[in-house]
Amino acid sequence: MSERTYLIKLGELTLKGGNLESFEHILRRNLVTMLRARSPGSRIETRPGRFYIRCEEEAAAGVEEVLSRLIGISGWARAERREKTVDAVLAACVEEGKALWEAGCTSFKVIARRADKSFPLNSHEICCAGGDAISGAFPELRVQVKNPQGIISVEIREKAYIFGPGKKGRRGLPVGSAGRGLLLLSGGIDSPVAGCLMAGRGMGLDAVYFHTPPYTSQEALDKTIRLAEIIGSYAMGIHLYIVNFTAVQKRIAEKSPAEWTTVLLRMAMMDAASSITRRTRAKCLITGESLSQVASQTIENLTCTESRARLPVLRPLIGIDKEAITSLAKDFGTYETSILPFADCCVLFSPVHPVLRGTVNEAAALYERLELSGLLYEALTTAEIRRCGYYEQGLSSRP
Ligand code: ATP
Ligand code: MG
Repeated sequence: MSERTYLIKLGELTLKGGNLESFEHILRRNLVTMLRARSPGSRIETRPGRFYIRCEEEAAAGVEEVLSRLIGISGWARAERREKTVDAVLAACVEEGKALWEAGCTSFKVIARRADKSFPLNSHEICCAGGDAISGAFPELRVQVKNPQGIISVEIREKAYIFGPGKKGRRGLPVGSAGRGLLLLSGGIDSPVAGCLMAGRGMGLDAVYFHTPPYTSQEALDKTIRLAEIIGSYAMGIHLYIVNFTAVQKRIAEKSPAEWTTVLLRMAMMDAASSITRRTRAKCLITGESLSQVASQTIENLTCTESRARLPVLRPLIGIDKEAITSLAKDFGTYETSILPFADCCVLFSPVHPVLRGTVNEAAALYERLELSGLLYEALTTAEIRRCGYYEQGLSSRP
């Protein structure tokens, strides 16, 4: 049975000096957890600045899926793992050259790194011999040192590794290296992206979704759960708190001027989310807000919203326009689910003329009048908690 080797480049992690070991340790732990669920039987080897995965041919699809989601790596490639002889290395170069040729490349270069100085050719000689061997076998492929279409890498370590351009990794820092946050997750496009971006900076996540049955549907809830599964697949699993906000929203609708309802609802969400963080050990709240995208997201209204938060509110999308957010959503794979047509509560109770520049004093006075504490307590104690996107076997729910 033939075996495959994947080589993983660690990228940003290599910059972290003294912390490197703990970052690498977390990254490795995440990778082990993911592989155990998606590609059992594959093995990991760690070297400075590099991880290798070895697996049987039929486990390769699972490994590639894991590598496309693993946060904290700069790139990965399928590699030829060969004996350290010149003949074996050049033969593997020709195989990799064939892949470039088949992909329609016409120019390439070989780059070499010789960690094992006992190998008979030095790095420059490996590049020359590899280049000659490839263009000898495929005359349409020319060596071009500046801006080649394809690069073939040769690394002489405890074995010889030869690999083509490979794929870009998700970059960032491994999940679990930067504390925890609580994501306010709606079924829209923005908040799932906000969660994925924070996971990309190493933050572990949990999420809260406020729903309003029967005004919001089971389909809207299912859609949000599915989004949580996808976010969890990057964030090494998340707990989703599903909080029934019907009574809270009704109270707001009954007791407040119509133009204030959305801002007051956001304030109640911040209030409730802050209480949940006591259970999740989150050090911040995360939202998908983007400056002035809608009326409730003017700087004044964001200030009103934030006034009920008892932890810092992180808004990774604050300066990003909708088009860029949408392309991130497509990249993370949340977009197709986000655009399913099931309205969330905020849309249903939206006023026609919302307040644009609320003041914190007015907001606080209106909020006090609502006397929400009993309703919030009730909503939080009856919250349903689901595990989403965990990789551990038996519990993993696959996005
Ligand atoms: P999204 O695309 O994330 O829904 P949006 O542009 O539609 O964002 P709003 O609906 O105004 O903006 O929501 C602003 C933010 O408030 C959301 O990004 C999310 O973090 C939070 N939020 C809104 N609705 C809910 C909800 N039902 N449950 C939990 N959080 C919510
Ligand atoms: Mg929304």
